[in-house]
Parts: sequence; C-alpha cells; structure tokens
Amino acid sequence: MKPYLGEEEALAAAEAVRSGWIAQGPRVADFERAFAAEVGATHGVAVSSCTAALHLALAMLGVGPGDEVVVPSLSFIATTNAVRYVGARPVFADVDPATANLTPESVKAALGPATRAVLLVHQGGMPADLDAVRAVCEPSGIPVLEDAACAIGSTYRGHPVGHGSLLAAWSFHPRKILTTGEGGMLTTEDPDWAVRLRRLREHGMSVSAADRHRSAQPILEQYLELGFNYRMTDIQAAVGLVQLDRLAGVIQRRRERAERYRTLLADVPGLSAVADPAYGTSNFQSFWVTLADHFPVDRNELLRRLAEQGVSARRGIMAAHLEPACADLEHGPLPVTEWFTRSSLILPLFHELTDQEQERVVAVIEEAAR
Ligand SMILES: *Cc1c(COP(=O)(O)O)cnc(C)c1O
Repeated sequence: MKPYLGEEEALAAAEAVRSGWIAQGPRVADFERAFAAEVGATHGVAVSSCTAALHLALAMLGVGPGDEVVVPSLSFIATTNAVRYVGARPVFADVDPATANLTPESVKAALGPATRAVLLVHQGGMPADLDAVRAVCEPSGIPVLEDAACAIGSTYRGHPVGHGSLLAAWSFHPRKILTTGEGGMLTTEDPDWAVRLRRLREHGMSVSAADRHRSAQPILEQYLELGFNYRMTDIQAAVGLVQLDRLAGVIQRRRERAERYRTLLADVPGLSAVADPAYGTSNFQSFWVTLADHFPVDRNELLRRLAEQGVSARRGIMAAHLEPACADLEHGPLPVTEWFTRSSLILPLFHELTDQEQERVVAVIEEAAR
C-alpha cells in the first residue's frame, strides 16, 4: 500500500496550521459531517484511530468484565484488543473462506448468555453479510457493531457500507484507502449515542473546548463521567476533507486494478483471487490470493521469491488467536481462520500501480506455479 496524497492535502494542512486552531475544531466538525454523508450515516464522531473508536464504542455501551463479545480471530489485532481494553472476553468465531468474514452460522455458534455484542469486520474492504448476521442476533437483542476500518467505498446491497448501520468504526491509517496520517471515525444512527461518544472522546467534558472558545462568556465545564483523550486534530481533518473529495476516483481505480489482477492471474493453477461477493462490492483495500495445498511452493516461500524480485507483498490477514499476546484466551477450533492466515498473501495495490508493475508481480507468481 502507498498512500495517495497530493499538493492539495499539503496546502489544506498548512492552512489549518496558519489558522492557529490546530486541535479539534471546525475542520473536524466539517469532516464528520462530510464523512457521515459519504457513508450514508446520520452522525459522525471523529477520533484519533479506529482502535480508539472500537474502545470508545464498547465503553459507551457499558461492556465490561463478565461480558463476551464475538469477534473474528482473522482480523488485525486491534479488533480483539478493543474487547480486552474494557475487560470483556473476546469469543473467536470462524470465517467464510471466500470473504474472510464472519458468517451467520459461525456467529450463532459463538453466542451465549454472556454475549453483549458482535463485532463484525468488513475484512480488507470485503463487505460482510450484515443482514444475515443481524438476523441471528436480533432474537436475543444483541447489537451488531461494525469494524469498518478498511471498508470506505465498499457497498452492501446497493448502499455504501455504513448506511443504516447501528455503530461502525473506521480507520484513516495510511494503510487504509482514505488517510489522515492516523485517525478514526465512529458513525451511528443514534443521536444520544453520538452525544455520549463526543463527550467520552473529550475527557467526559460537558462542553467541548471548541464551544467554550467560541462563547463570548466564560463557560465552566463539568466532567460528567470517566472519559478519554481520543480527539482528532484539525490538521488531520483538513487532510481528510481533501481525501474525501478524491475518494470516488480512488475506488474506481482500485477496482479497475483489482479486475486486471484477476484477469492476469485467472489461469494460474492452484491459486484463487479475491472477488466481489454476490451481495455487494469490495473496495479491494486488500487484494488477497489464496494458495491451494498442491501449489508447488508454500506461501512463505512465495513471499520470499516476490521480495527477491523487489515486490513488497504481505502475508494475508493475521489470526489473533495464534499470537503470543492472545495465548491466554480460550477458543474452539478455527479451521478456516487457520487455513486462510497460512495460505493467503496480499499483493501490492495502490493508486499509481502501473501495468508493468502488475505484470512483474504476476510473472513471479506464474514462475512459482510451474
Ligand atoms: C487497521 C485496522 C484497525 C485499526 O485501525 P487504526 O486506525 O490503525 O487503529 C482495526 N480493525 C481492522 C479490521 C483494521 O484493518
């Protein structure tokens, strides 16, 4: 991944600096409104990262010790960590081999009397089947929260991911499609949740620093509950606003490059490439391929050969339950997760990726397949 940034982003950041208001202020408010509109949500609450967004969401819902939250192990470790931050237990559910996402069946099997929420990840931009997962959670009143860190610009049943979502968390890390350096967002339909999330990200303060600054009269703030400092800066938001303007073109280009990879790789035996699911479209934030067991070399060897030819590929999505940090977490069998994390790799895909660069990547893979 390479971030796609231009002179406009540099100018917008400089303008924020020159304005003298660099912490959370008017540009953050503008970015929240523009972002929420883009994903079809009612409220946007900007924060310092997606990890902070996930933590804040669970804290706001009062999830804590003795509670369980269903998550995929097959995700960036922040998904699991957010559950641990509030003292709850992550319960790992297995994933679908084609989408790398939780399925209604795997979620259903993981639900129990202590389940307080399901954290559904749209992995690498691949939309998860939200309606189907909701259908198995609704009878027990369990909320389905979305880790949409990578999913800006993906669609689900004809709408952007985030449309009609209860609560979704987004990331603006440079590895994601829209970047502010670091940064995150929560979107929600619930006006009371939005108010509470705004307060929690700013130390639990009754009035924001920006509002106090704007007021002609002194306002004495109160600290209403235990909060955090998870604010985004106006410098970041200024960059984010420009990135939002670019988004449609960036998604179109990624999807076109992904389609070209699929065509170039179509005849490689023992290899399958990620594709859109029946119910939506991916932004292909991650373009992954999986190797069959009979592929002549294993995944790590293929990564090594790519690196040798100057191609920076990465292992596919990690599995949290296999990491030392999670050694103390109990879990059931996760066969698809373990197969996927062992057999998948992510190919280079960025806005300026050229035809020749793609052909070079494919040539190394074709050679390995022979
Ligand atoms: C990147 C990512 C995160 C973490 O986002 P940050 O903004 O870096 O905190 C969380 N979940 C998933 C699925 C991610 O891909």
